[in-house]
Amino acid sequence: MTAALLGSPGLIGLPYDASSSFLRGAAEAPAPIREALWSPQGNPWTEMGEDISAADGLSDHGDLELALADPASARTAIEAGVSAVYVAGHRPIALGGDHSVTYPILRAVAQAHPGVTILHIDAHADVYDVFEGDRFSHACPFARIMEEGLAARLVQVGLRTITPHQRDQMRRFEADVFDMRRWGCGDRPSSSGAVYLSIDLDGLDPAFAPGVSHREPGGLSVRDVIDLVHAVPGPVVGADVVEYNPRQDVQGVTASVAAKIVKELAGRMMADRRGRTRA
Ligand code: MN
Ligand code: MN
Repeated sequence: MTAALLGSPGLIGLPYDASSSFLRGAAEAPAPIREALWSPQGNPWTEMGEDISAADGLSDHGDLELALADPASARTAIEAGVSAVYVAGHRPIALGGDHSVTYPILRAVAQAHPGVTILHIDAHADVYDVFEGDRFSHACPFARIMEEGLAARLVQVGLRTITPHQRDQMRRFEADVFDMRRWGCGDRPSSSGAVYLSIDLDGLDPAFAPGVSHREPGGLSVRDVIDLVHAVPGPVVGADVVEYNPRQDVQGVTASVAAKIVKELAGRMMADRRGRTRA
């Protein structure tokens, strides 16, 4: 991987929640996250010293039009839309949407950057073979990704509700799992080579991020997630921030958290380009 292959970060909105197993609402996430990101209450400088509003900063590729009544066509559109971000010379930061979007995103990522390590932050493992009759549910994306060989390695952080079936699946995919008990002991993930970051906001404790469809107490802090974004060896070749549900939010606090994570992801990608981060 050379710096020349690392484009500037580009936002793409994926207003899709038809593969959610419990509550709808994640399809409404991209607009409030953008609003919080560019709100005059803050400024565009990241903690790593990058200005995301600069000419080589964060571009915005808009929202895809996704058919909620036709999940297969939505997946095709997501793969094509994310591929187009790479072709345009950018690294995608996708705004979900429910977590099912990560499978078609990774089909596009694998074309641009084969053999990535996925750093997956979530309360849940999302590796069901099938969930409530749906192999493309938001409970299944990492099973499809690993079966298709779209990533070389799966590292999961923040998990705290794992069923026996999911444990079997995690063993099958040789996932490196930093559940909250292991995290609490101070263990931290390491990786080498290109990384894709998939951030389900329910990986955070609901005290920090109540605006999600599945609140699972006992999770990560905002600081934990930002530190991971900054510290994971890279480069970071793509990312998603998923499962924000505005209908569940409390005074937009979760939109602010999502926007902060997006901002630090963009700054991290910009720092990768300048060789300011570890390869
Ligand atoms: Mn998830
Ligand atoms: Mn989750």
